[in-house]
Amino acid sequence: MSVSTSQNYSEIIDAVLARHRNDPTRLMQILRETQETLGWLSLETLMGIARRLHQPLARIQGVAGFYSFFHTQPLGRYRVLWSDNITDRMLGGGALMEEMCRRLWLEPGRVSEDGLVSVATTSCTGMCDQGPAMLVNYRPITRMSTQRVAEIVDLIRGEVPLEQWPAEFFRIDDNIRRRDILLGNRLAHGEAIGATLARGPQATLDEIKHSSLRGRGGAGFPTGLKWETCRNATGTGDASAHYVVCNADEGEPGTFKDRVLLTTQADLVFEGMTCAAHVVGAKRGMLYLRGEYRHLLDHLNDILARRRIERLLGDNILGHADFSFDIEIHLGAGAYVCGEESALIESLEGKRGIPRNRPPFPVTHGYLGQPTTVNNVETLAAAGLICAYGGDWFRTIGTEKSTGTKLISVSGDCTMPGIYEYPFGTDVAEILADCGANPENTQAVQISGPSGICIASDEFRRRIGFEDLSTAGAFMVFDNHRDMFEVAHNFAHFFAHESCGFCTPCRVGTTLLKNCMDKIEAGHGSEYDINEIFRINHLLQTTSHCGLGHSACNPMFDTLQKFRPAYEQRLHSLAFEPAFDLDAALSQARQMTGRDDRAAHLEDSVEVKP
Ligand code: SF4
Repeated sequence: MSVSTSQNYSEIIDAVLARHRNDPTRLMQILRETQETLGWLSLETLMGIARRLHQPLARIQGVAGFYSFFHTQPLGRYRVLWSDNITDRMLGGGALMEEMCRRLWLEPGRVSEDGLVSVATTSCTGMCDQGPAMLVNYRPITRMSTQRVAEIVDLIRGEVPLEQWPAEFFRIDDNIRRRDILLGNRLAHGEAIGATLARGPQATLDEIKHSSLRGRGGAGFPTGLKWETCRNATGTGDASAHYVVCNADEGEPGTFKDRVLLTTQADLVFEGMTCAAHVVGAKRGMLYLRGEYRHLLDHLNDILARRRIERLLGDNILGHADFSFDIEIHLGAGAYVCGEESALIESLEGKRGIPRNRPPFPVTHGYLGQPTTVNNVETLAAAGLICAYGGDWFRTIGTEKSTGTKLISVSGDCTMPGIYEYPFGTDVAEILADCGANPENTQAVQISGPSGICIASDEFRRRIGFEDLSTAGAFMVFDNHRDMFEVAHNFAHFFAHESCGFCTPCRVGTTLLKNCMDKIEAGHGSEYDINEIFRINHLLQTTSHCGLGHSACNPMFDTLQKFRPAYEQRLHSLAFEPAFDLDAALSQARQMTGRDDRAAHLEDSVEVKP
């Protein structure tokens, strides 16, 4: 590195660190911004950051190595990541990636020799309604086709900057197909905050509790109880404070409703966060945006800036002397596990996103050990409406145990994929009819993504709601010609890829599951392997540290129960066949030692050459 380049390099790191006040809790943003400027995170870069932050290098390396969107090896100047979700595959994403690699003379997962381009896969990018999708330098491109692949390969070969690529490539449609109270919201800016300030924090909390609002991220925890516990919890130490966190780490494959809410109703979400802050007594809020939604960052920051001008954020909100609150956006970096609230908080603190031991729960010991309410994007939007219109109004929508509406992200085999907002209690058959799925020809719907439930056609009268089908929102439709084994196979790879590796049962168990499914797919499976899946399921359910491990076997479990022939037709051998051929693996050692006699082979093993 030349002196001038070296100076330039130091100046880049210094400028990024200065923007973040040399604050180690902002390490994620520091690494991201440094990488955006320098292209990748070399050892020298990480050492420079560690030195300036007075942190051990191992800690900085640990964080950089944890997130799939941070790169500690050089990548191509054009980094292409194809969404590997099952619905993208059903739309031909896998074949298009191969076509791109063929045209670029490149193997998937490799960088071209001239350092120009790399092509690989990533987990679902949240564009399932307009796939096949991919990211180029983390900017999404949807509706990929053979022609678009050819055009993009030409642009890459010509080294055309992304800013000069056709704008149409980067168009993202909202695809809102059905609106109700959230997507049809017409609240004036500040209306919910004004009502909250007029009512006061305790009375607002009472309205939220009265509304029976429950979390929309899948678990369905009562929002009023969460806010109340946070409000009543006492912070500790000099940094005593309360925090509001919006979980926009929408990583469950097949879910993209938060992307649309943040595109079209961001004011309502921020309004809900501000009302929550008034109830729990927070001065600071953070919205954790998944790295795949990087394209929304400027849009959201613009709205926050406007809301500060409108005095809906900052000091003395709406002239109220006792209420100051502000929000910042924190960008994730490609780790599904950060959707779990305690892992998300670790990430917010600039650490690896490993779920914490609970209790204590984040609501009493969250961000920096302080009381923190973490709510889903959709929950906060609904809370904003309740603050404006009251709990009674909200209770008139939905069912007794599931009040309000639910946003459903529909993808797969239907003519109108997109976002549908329904009152809770709507049945699956109605959603299928609305989205253009052929009821005679639909064999299954995966509800709430791989960690959710797969329902067969005889269950289509089941209802969306906490009393029946609880969901974070994904709704993937599979018609009769789909192979449900392949669906589960894709999900097994997803969990093995996304296991954070912290606890052994999940780290090893998800890989064993993937290997079992690979083996069955390759035609080497037997009944033994199917029983093995059930054994691994028991292990994961009983010993995993967090929900990812608990639910990793769900797709295999459901499909084995409901679509067992899809597995059995692959079991060419009913006798046990080991997944690992130890004798073959030792062949290199035999060659090196010049031995091929019977004693150099395992007992009952392959034929020995004379
Ligand atoms: Fe990480 Fe899996 Fe253990 Fe959760 S269960 S902590 S994702 S290894």
